[in-house]
Amino acid sequence: MSVARFWRETPRRYNLGGSKCTNCNTVYFPPRSVCPTCPSHRKTLEKMVPFQLSGEGTVYSFTVVHDAAEGFEMQVPYVLALVKTVEGPMLTGQVVDVNPPEVKIGLRVRATFRKLREEGAAGVIHYGYKFAPAGEAGAGPEPRARLAPVASSPAGSSDRAPA
Ligand SMILES: [Zn+2]
Repeated sequence: MSVARFWRETPRRYNLGGSKCTNCNTVYFPPRSVCPTCPSHRKTLEKMVPFQLSGEGTVYSFTVVHDAAEGFEMQVPYVLALVKTVEGPMLTGQVVDVNPPEVKIGLRVRATFRKLREEGAAGVIHYGYKFAPAGEAGAGPEPRARLAPVASSPAGSSDRAPA
C-alpha cells in the first residue's frame, strides 16, 4: 500500500494533535508545554496532556483567494478560513467541497485530511487538514447534494460556475 493511500484510508489521522491544560481545561493547537492562561505558567508544566481535536468547528472569518501562492494556482479561487473549533482553538485552513459564494460566517465545517500540494515532477506530496462543510452534505453518499439550494442562500448567489 502506498503512503498516500495509507493516509487516505486513515481518516482519523488529521494531524490535529493539540494539548490541554488539566488545570483550567484550555485546549491549545499547536500543542503547548505550559499554559499561558493559568496565572502560574510554570506550575502547569506537568498539567498539560495531549489532546486530539475533533476537527469540528464553525467559520469565524474567511477570505476568497484569487491570487494563488505558488503551488496553488490550480485551485483559485479558493476559500481560506479562520475556523473556531468546538474545543476553542482557532485553525486556519482552506475550505473545500463548497462553492466560494456559499461560504458564510458560522458555517459548520469539519476538518478533512487532504493532499495540500505536490512539488515538482518527482511528486513530493504534502498532506494536511482542510475543511469541508459539516452536516447533511457530509453524511450523505451523494456529494452533489451539497449543491442543492439551502434556506439561507441569499439572493444574487445564482452565479455558481459549473465545476
Ligand atoms: Zn491552564
